[in-house]
Amino acid sequence: MTRSPILLIHGGAWDIPADLLEAHEQGVFDALQEGWRVLESGGSALDAVQSAVTSLENDPAFDAGRGSFLTRDGRVQLDALIMDGATLRAGGVACVERIRNPILAARLVLDRSPHVYFVGLGAETFAQSQGMTLIDNSELVLDRERRRLAEAHAREQAGAPDRTFSGHPESDPNETSHDTVGAVALDSEGRLAAATSTGGTLNKDPGRVGDSSLIGCGCYADNTAAAVSLTGWGEPIMKLVLGKWATDKVLAGRSPEQVAPEAMAYLLRRLGGHGGIILLAPDGRYGLAHNTPRMAWGIHTAAGPRTGTLLRDQDENESENS
Ligand code: ASP
Repeated sequence: MTRSPILLIHGGAWDIPADLLEAHEQGVFDALQEGWRVLESGGSALDAVQSAVTSLENDPAFDAGRGSFLTRDGRVQLDALIMDGATLRAGGVACVERIRNPILAARLVLDRSPHVYFVGLGAETFAQSQGMTLIDNSELVLDRERRRLAEAHAREQAGAPDRTFSGHPESDPNETSHDTVGAVALDSEGRLAAATSTGGTLNKDPGRVGDSSLIGCGCYADNTAAAVSLTGWGEPIMKLVLGKWATDKVLAGRSPEQVAPEAMAYLLRRLGGHGGIILLAPDGRYGLAHNTPRMAWGIHTAAGPRTGTLLRDQDENESENS
């Protein structure tokens, strides 16, 4: 049966400041165009999420690829996962420093390796062996991020809780930044896929891996259940294996538009976590939710693209689904 394709994207969930709203919406819009081109021409959901996330990684507005948050010692360390819901094949990389587009390295892992996940130097060596060019880490570092890191260090030295470090238990959800990117898609053959890419949290310790690239945490896809991508404070999301939690609910018969806000409520209730989620079922029903003030999101169906940075309420979401 031919399905009407759908592409859903997020570009992070936090209190996106007014002066950054346009850049976030534009970045999501551009990524929607890239991913939709694939779906529209009969391409796979897997290729569509890869294209969309590559576009977001290339956009310095987001915490993925160039322009990501810096580690405590001033480097960019990237994590990414891509998963094919039709076959459950998955590829992930973490803590890579010399790869411009970690989602493309993750795709190489999915396509060409018997393994699922590579980290650090091993991931870079694998990517290089498959034809990827390794770059200098400094090419991924922006002055904007050097300034942000210096501010975070100054706050630490002053003994103030670092409100921008999303791993801090005292972080204010209104001020913490979660700028990870992700996409989920359904293609015309009914296949689901998901991809998530991140630079992690500001001022993270080198070697730290968050939820984004871990299967079932920040990303998951299974044609029999749903495809999901999350953003937010990674440690609580990991502890709850929240992506799999959400897709299991859809598998059990719940609708994605109900499960998405429930996942965010569960994250907050159980561990005080904040973030956002996009969730897509194989029948085309979907849900988006965030428990942060804003989330950069976009959706493309045959009816056209739509982007936003605020989900006013769940009613709007449901009426669009109907
Ligand atoms: N979830 C990411 C992490 O913890 C951060 C984010 O979503 O911005 O690495």
